[in-house]
Amino acid sequence: MSLEQQLENGGVVVTKLDDLLNWARLSSLWPLSFGIACCAIEMMGSMASNYDLDRFGVFPRPSPRQADVIIIAGTVTFKMAERIKRLYEQMPEPKYVISMGSCSNCGGPYWEHGYHVVKGVDRIIPVDIYVQGCPPRPEALIGGILELQKKISTQSLSTI
Ligand code: SF4
Repeated sequence: MSLEQQLENGGVVVTKLDDLLNWARLSSLWPLSFGIACCAIEMMGSMASNYDLDRFGVFPRPSPRQADVIIIAGTVTFKMAERIKRLYEQMPEPKYVISMGSCSNCGGPYWEHGYHVVKGVDRIIPVDIYVQGCPPRPEALIGGILELQKKISTQSLSTI
């Protein structure tokens, strides 16, 4: 008998509290609606109907206070760095960071001559998942989100 059938018949499921909470958290990741440069177009494409990130429970939120993920999609200039840090600090714990694209990962095409570009957002805030590409396709971002879900599934709320 399948799990669904057991539940329909009033069955009981026994699990650990961590597993249950992690399952709820990884199934409802809410990224901040926030983009910086060209990578953000791909991020928006991932949310639209072709790729439909809603099906993974990923639903953008307009306020950092309601978000548990921030996707850094674009070139991080020194001018933006302080704003990014402030947004991150306004998010409630536990929170996660996805660095999307070469610019955010390491400065991208601005690595050598971009005096105005931070050479990696991990110099400002901690990054959980790096997504490579310039820009990464929506499939790559979805891959990053699946990796983040895997990471969350192994965490214990008593230690984060
Ligand atoms: S990684 Fe490429 S596509 Fe993404 S923001 Fe930088 S230059 Fe634009």
